[in-house]
Amino acid sequence: MGRVYNFSAGPAVLPEEVLKEAAAEMLDYQGSGQSVMEMSHRSKVFDKIIKDAEQDLRDLLNIPDNYKVLFLQGGAHLQFAMIPMNLMKNKVADYIVTGQWAKRAFKEAQKFGDAKCIASSEDKTFSYIPDCSDLPIDDNADYVYICENNTIYGTKFKTLPNTKGKDLVADVSSCFLSEPMDVSKYAVIYGGAQKNIGPAGVVIAIIREDLITEDVLPGTPTMLMYKTHADNDSLYNTPPCYGIYICGKVFKWLKKQGGLAAMKERNEKKAKILYDFLDESKLFKGTVEKNSRSLMNVPFVTGDADLDAKFIKEATEAGFVNLKGHRSVGGMRASIYNAMPIEGVEKLVEFMKKFEAENA
Ligand SMILES: *Cc1c(COP(=O)(O)O)cnc(C)c1O
Repeated sequence: MGRVYNFSAGPAVLPEEVLKEAAAEMLDYQGSGQSVMEMSHRSKVFDKIIKDAEQDLRDLLNIPDNYKVLFLQGGAHLQFAMIPMNLMKNKVADYIVTGQWAKRAFKEAQKFGDAKCIASSEDKTFSYIPDCSDLPIDDNADYVYICENNTIYGTKFKTLPNTKGKDLVADVSSCFLSEPMDVSKYAVIYGGAQKNIGPAGVVIAIIREDLITEDVLPGTPTMLMYKTHADNDSLYNTPPCYGIYICGKVFKWLKKQGGLAAMKERNEKKAKILYDFLDESKLFKGTVEKNSRSLMNVPFVTGDADLDAKFIKEATEAGFVNLKGHRSVGGMRASIYNAMPIEGVEKLVEFMKKFEAENA
């Protein structure tokens, strides 16, 4: 069997070129006689891998010099805790709850201090991004938290919230490197790699340096202090070496594609093919308010659970896999990350048209 069109929300499709390169280097990485999986994280060879990965990421995102790049573990979920542990100096934080991941982060922060939900879109099953231009930001808030792209519901912030001068923390797991971003507008940007960057097991955090201190909540474990990792260039303990190596390859691939401006153009073109079809289809409907639509995750339904199931089954047989919506919402979801080629979306739409004609 050949490769399928993989619409998984995560772990997700990676560029075929990257996988082929990794396969070719599996037994002998660039004459070292070892796989990257087998070598010391203190070796010269690995040191170059992690340094190059950081530099390529800095180039792609234009990361200012006063930000640290950390390669961490524990998934996005561990950041839900590390953020309050490291940043909640006044024990106050404001959360904008636009989906399940933001809600989890909000609940976790409540363990550590006075986390408040200052805006939510739960009233309409998270199908839109609320107006965040004039929110009741607490004077003592240590930060304002958002999940910038809501993987499950398919919404994305098109403008950042007005934080009234407070630091902005953003979970960008599912939109990382899908378009350019102005890093200087954020205090912390973080994301799990398994959506748009690399294999599960790596989390990348980009943190403004003045926030990296020893002044953390009492009892914070050494491993959960940003300072521990920043002081040691992400090599305090054994990092997820192989994952970082693959991320580095994806960064090089993105540079070769023309960088993030080119990716944005391509991602917009790709998403438009699918959204235009959903807007004209009599059978399939998008579930998200138009001005909140994500470029990366596109949920849709037929309105009939049996027909949804039939579609998913037939699509899978035709080589379009992982189209089932998240268990909390049902329906379908096509995740069309950077590595999904345009023809994958074109062929999916062709298949949907055929299915619509057969099931009218
Ligand atoms: C997938 C996802 C998470 C959860 O990631 P884990 O690595 O499983 O902890 C959190 N936030 C967003 C936006 C996600 O897409």
